[in-house]
Amino acid sequence: VPELPENRNTEKVNGNIHTLFISGSDQESLICMEPVVDENFETNIPGLFLAGSIIEAPSIRVAANQGHRIANMIAKKKGSGPVEGGVMDLVIGGAGPAGLNAAFTAREHSLTFKIFDQYFMGATILAMPAGKIFDIHYKNVYDKPEGMLWYETSLAPKLHNKWVTQILGNNIEVNEHEAVRDVIVDRELGGFRITTTRGVYRSRCVLLAIGKSGYTRRLNVLGELQLHQAHRVHYKYRGDTRIHGKKILVIGGGNTATEAAIALSRTNDVTLSYRKKEFTRPSSKNLDSIKELEARGRIEILLNSNVLRYDKNKIVLYIDGKVVKREFDEYYVLIGYEIPMDFLRRIGVELR
Ligand SMILES: Cc1cc2nc3c(=O)[nH]c(=O)nc-3n(C[C@H](O)[C@H](O)[C@H](O)COP(=O)(O)OP(=O)(O)OC[C@H]3O[C@@H](n4cnc5c(N)ncnc54)[C@H](O)[C@@H]3O)c2cc1C
Repeated sequence: VPELPENRNTEKVNGNIHTLFISGSDQESLICMEPVVDENFETNIPGLFLAGSIIEAPSIRVAANQGHRIANMIAKKKGSGPVEGGVMDLVIGGAGPAGLNAAFTAREHSLTFKIFDQYFMGATILAMPAGKIFDIHYKNVYDKPEGMLWYETSLAPKLHNKWVTQILGNNIEVNEHEAVRDVIVDRELGGFRITTTRGVYRSRCVLLAIGKSGYTRRLNVLGELQLHQAHRVHYKYRGDTRIHGKKILVIGGGNTATEAAIALSRTNDVTLSYRKKEFTRPSSKNLDSIKELEARGRIEILLNSNVLRYDKNKIVLYIDGKVVKREFDEYYVLIGYEIPMDFLRRIGVELR
């Protein structure tokens, strides 16, 4: 892993470290790290705030209160920053309790803002086992409510319904299925440039309330989003044995990718593409299995192959120095997760 340069927060440097690859063992050490914020939840990058479980807020109420305080403070400072027209006051990444409550307070103060969620609002809460009751005294912490977010001890679907009603009632649009991927200080024009999976936005301040669950890595190549929306590019293989008779390209070189390729090859025509010259990450059991399947003509393996872009019905690969076009029905991109600490470090937030 390359050392991050001293001045990490410039466009150029951000551009350079965009492709930073973080190995599994490095991820383990990052999991133990925490982002550094001051008493106003501001990071070492002025105007970039963090709230909620990403900074160890123990409960929904504490996370929500932090979101409220941050939006309040941004409203108080409004107009003081070096910004030009067309720049929003605030971009909020994550529509959990912290992000949603920030959005309510931003609306109350008539701030211009957008709120994004990589999945949908309240995704973390709804992912918990059915029947889980969210307790306002969780971990024996009880903070007085600040801001508008409704929270009483309840089941997740009730919480979610209440929040949706509040969002609609306040005329707020949550950009769901749109993840924040990059945050860059715009030194020339002031404020930030925020890249999401769908576009680029400019804002005076940014609040990341992205929780601790992380996201699956994308290839970030042309045509990927469209094919993902058409359900032809997948980032998870859930062991579905009903998939059959398809031409499938599995991309990746770890255990997840090799295991998916092995399972899918039972009923499909599978090709496995890996960017390196040889596999080093899968377990010996998985390695033996794919080699055996390759020898029997059941799996095609493309080593030293990189995806350049997806065309409508073809994928463009760079294999051993040659550009090759191939056609598949579906693609499984299984190239790992980015934990939130990776993301924060990549954008230049100080961790300790
Ligand atoms: C097992 C368990 C039980 C719990 N029980 C309770 C309880 O009983 N009572 C209680 O008060 N608290 C409880 N909590 C804590 C509570 O879930 C958290 O405090 C709360 O969810 C934190 O809210 P948040 O907004 O910080 O993050 P989250 O709720 O995790 O929301 C973050 C949101 O950000 C989105 N996101 C992530 N990355 C991106 C990105 N790059 N771009 C855009 N969006 C992104 C996610 O999809 C998610 O919707 C529990 C937690 C756990 C793990």
